[in-house]
Amino acid sequence: MLHIVACIKQVPDTKIIKMNPKTNTMDRSSAPAILNPYDSHAVEEAVRLRARYGGVVSVLTMGPPPAVKAIRKCIEIGADEGYMITDRAFAGADTLATSYALTKALEKIASEIRPIDLIICGKMTIDGDTGQVGPGIARRLDMPPLTSVNKVVEVNQEEGYAIVHRKLEDGYEVIRSTLPCLFSVEKDINEVPYSTLPNMLRAARYKPNIWAVSDLKEIDKTQLGLKGSPTIVSSVWAPQKPQGGKLLEGEPEAQIRQLLDILLARKELFEAGAGGGAD
Ligand SMILES: Cc1cc2nc3c(=O)[nH]c(=O)nc-3n(C[C@H](O)[C@H](O)[C@H](O)COP(=O)(O)OP(=O)(O)OC[C@H]3O[C@@H](n4cnc5c(N)ncnc54)[C@H](O)[C@@H]3O)c2cc1C
Repeated sequence: MLHIVACIKQVPDTKIIKMNPKTNTMDRSSAPAILNPYDSHAVEEAVRLRARYGGVVSVLTMGPPPAVKAIRKCIEIGADEGYMITDRAFAGADTLATSYALTKALEKIASEIRPIDLIICGKMTIDGDTGQVGPGIARRLDMPPLTSVNKVVEVNQEEGYAIVHRKLEDGYEVIRSTLPCLFSVEKDINEVPYSTLPNMLRAARYKPNIWAVSDLKEIDKTQLGLKGSPTIVSSVWAPQKPQGGKLLEGEPEAQIRQLLDILLARKELFEAGAGGGAD
């Protein structure tokens, strides 16, 4: 039975979050917590693969207790099972410590619940923005990381391979990988439809499996949380708003027309100033 685990994170909605101008840190209370948008596409892709091949879709998160809400959102999308690791010892984790803790939880799921064939992550989170956690997990589990995936052509559990498209700047490449492997998915891989009523009802009542550090086997506590995080944030600042300039509005085509008008007007001014003559 194909077992897909989507790693998901609850994040503040960065479209509306405010910065504290005194401390230059995010005022997390100024924005609601939502499921990382990239991760909703990861879960949706797992659900679509289950529809094609059968199997089970699990979701896993590391976060504070309110992150249960993000797991419920994934159950609404169609996930079967939810797992959460939460503990004060995880607090202050950078991407290295985050990928370590998530790997330990994935090992527990694989050994005690059911083996894992495929892990799907979002391309990145909208708060941390690094895109490092997925490849970090793959490296620790010694499985191939397939990043920037925007189409899954085939997952063949029997023969142990997957074929995907990886988005490139000027097109895409087709990659065949052995299973198990890890995908980091782009937003354009799918559209997440509105949740069905049965899924919403199931989500409202759903209680995920919640584990603390003491539930994870053979764990090196020095690799967790702030203690296990070599990243040092030396300073944080909000970028200055650019002065002057003009913000182009409308559809891309209308913006290009506006930009051309501005450039042509400047060219005329320049030519008039320089005595004209150039064509
Ligand atoms: C010194 C330091 C201290 C920090 N302290 C905290 C803190 O106390 N609390 C805090 O929330 N953040 C903290 N952070 C931020 C934290 O490191 C990152 O949010 C976290 O490691 C994930 O990195 P990212 O957001 O860049 O994820 P990315 O690497 O961009 O995420 C890629 C994908 O990995 C998966 N993923 C990422 N994070 C998780 C997760 N937690 N659970 C499941 N899947 C996940 C998702 O699929 C996601 O789409 C700290 C960072 C630093 C540098």
